[in-house]
Amino acid sequence: MVQARDTQEKLGQGTPMTLRERFQSDPTLRLLDENLPIILWMTNADRSDFFYNRRWAEFTGMTGKTITGEMWLGLLHPDDRRAVVDSFETAFSRRRTWTMGYRLMHRDGTYHWMEDMGEPCHDAGGNFAGYVGNSIDVTERREALQKAQSANDALELRNKSAALISQMNDDLQVCKTLGETSPLIALYMQRLFPDNPGAVFLINESRSLVEMLVEWGESHIEPAFTREDCWALRKGKIHMVNGPGTGVLCEHLAKAVDSSLCVPMIAQGDVLGMTHLQASPLQNGAIRSVESCRDLLVALSDDLALNLSSIRSREALREQSVRDPLTRLYNRRYMMESLDRELARARRRKLHVAVVMTDVDHFKRYNDTYGHHAGDAVLAGIGKFLLTTLRTEDIACRYGGEELTLIMPDVDPATLGHRLNDIREKIAELQLEHLSQQLGTVTMSLGVAIFPTHGDTATELLQVADAALYLAKNAGRNRVVFAGHEITEATEKPHTD
Ligand code: GH3
Ligand code: MG
Ligand code: MG
Repeated sequence: MVQARDTQEKLGQGTPMTLRERFQSDPTLRLLDENLPIILWMTNADRSDFFYNRRWAEFTGMTGKTITGEMWLGLLHPDDRRAVVDSFETAFSRRRTWTMGYRLMHRDGTYHWMEDMGEPCHDAGGNFAGYVGNSIDVTERREALQKAQSANDALELRNKSAALISQMNDDLQVCKTLGETSPLIALYMQRLFPDNPGAVFLINESRSLVEMLVEWGESHIEPAFTREDCWALRKGKIHMVNGPGTGVLCEHLAKAVDSSLCVPMIAQGDVLGMTHLQASPLQNGAIRSVESCRDLLVALSDDLALNLSSIRSREALREQSVRDPLTRLYNRRYMMESLDRELARARRRKLHVAVVMTDVDHFKRYNDTYGHHAGDAVLAGIGKFLLTTLRTEDIACRYGGEELTLIMPDVDPATLGHRLNDIREKIAELQLEHLSQQLGTVTMSLGVAIFPTHGDTATELLQVADAALYLAKNAGRNRVVFAGHEITEATEKPHTD
C-alpha cells in the first residue's frame, strides 16, 4: 500500500512528495501508472493531493496536466455532482468503502456512465492514509441493460394488451346486438389506449354513411361522414399521419389534429368500417405517437371486424325470424313472448298494459276492387306507419292476415282512447301508392283490453280484445271499442254489407 506523503519526504528538501511524484519516482508504480488497463485514482488523508493514472487522463483528454480534485468534480454530470460529493464525504468521514455510479465527461464531450469504488488505505503504522479506487466505464453494459429492460417492458405491454383483447373478444361473443357492444368496446379501448382518444365506426346498411359506434377520450371527429371523407376507407389500407405536416389529414376530423391513424375493419373481404386513433399531448406535455399504437390497433381492428360482422349477421337473422316480411311488424310468436314478458313486468311494477286487436275493414272487398298486390301495399303501408308512429316501447305485430295486434306497456287508460283514435284517423287518411297508382284508403277497427282491468293472462286479454273488436265491427267498423265499454265513436258512416 502506498504510504502517506507526511511519512515520505522529497529527498533532501524536507517537503513531502506528491502522489504523482511518488508514482514517477518508483519504477514499479510508474509501470502501473502507465500500463494499468483500468482507471486508478488515489487521494491522501486530508484530500489535499490527488492522483489519477494515465487511463483516466486518456479518458478525459487531460493528458499532461496536473490533476486536481476540482478537475474531477468539473467533469461530473451536473445532475450527479451533488450526490457524488455527498456520498464521498460520508464515506470519507467514516472511512468506509465508497461505491457510486455517475456520469463523467469523456474527451469526446459525451457523458459516460462510470462505476466507481474506493477503499480507505492505511500506512505501515496502521494510520489512515487516504483512499485508493478504480472506475469502470459501464456505459455499454448499461445501455444493453436498458435495451433489454425496454424490450421487456414492451413484451409485458404486449402480453397485457393481448390479454385485454382476448377478454374483449370473449365479452363480444355473447353480445346479441351492436348496441350492446358500444359500452364494452369503449371500456376496452380506453384501457388499451389510455393516452390516445379515438373511435370505432361502422358503415351503415345502405353503405351511404360511416357512423360512429363508440368514442373514447376527447376525440375531434365527426360522428357521421361519407366513405369519401376517410383516406383509409378510400384506399382500403391504413392511413397514418404521424406528426404535423407528415401526411394529409382525413376530412372526417372535426378539428385539425397533429397525428391521426385510421385502420379499415375488414371481415371476409367486406369493409365493415374503421377504427381511428389520435395523438394529443399528455399532461406532462409528451405525446404518445399514433405510430407506437399502430400494430395493436391493426390487430384489434381485425378482431373487432370479425366480431362485429358476426353480431350484425346474427342480428339480421334474428330480425328475420321475429319480423313479418310484408309489414316489417313483429310476428305472432314474438308478440306472444313479448306479451308474457310485459305482463310480468307490469305485474311487478303495478302498471297498465293495453292489448289492442285491430282489423282492416272490408279488406276482402278492397282486394276485389284494387287487386291483391294493392292490398299487400296497403298492409305494408300500415306497417310502416305504425313503426314510425308508435313509441319505441310499443310492440306492433301482424297477428295474421289483415289483423294486427298492438301491445302498449305502461299506458294511461285515461288518454289511451284519444291516442288510439288518433292512430285510427291517421290510417284512414293514409295516401298510399302502388305501381305509381294512387290507392284507395282503408279504415280499421280496434278492440282494446287493459291489463289488469280486463284480464290477467295473455290468452284472456287477447280474447277480451278480440271480443271488443267484434263489437267494433258490429257497431259499424272504423272505431275503437274498449272492453266493457260501448264506445261508438264512428267517424264515418258504418258500412252496411
Ligand atoms: P271485415 O271488415 O269484417 O274485417 O271484412 P274483411 O273483408 O276484412 O274480412 P274477411 O275476414 O272476410 O276478409 C279478410 C280478407 O283479408 C281476406 C283476404 O283476402 C285479405 N287478406 C288477408 N291477408 C292478406 C294479405 O296478406 N294480402 C292481401 N292482399 N289480402 C289479405
Ligand atoms: Mg279479418
Ligand atoms: Mg277485415
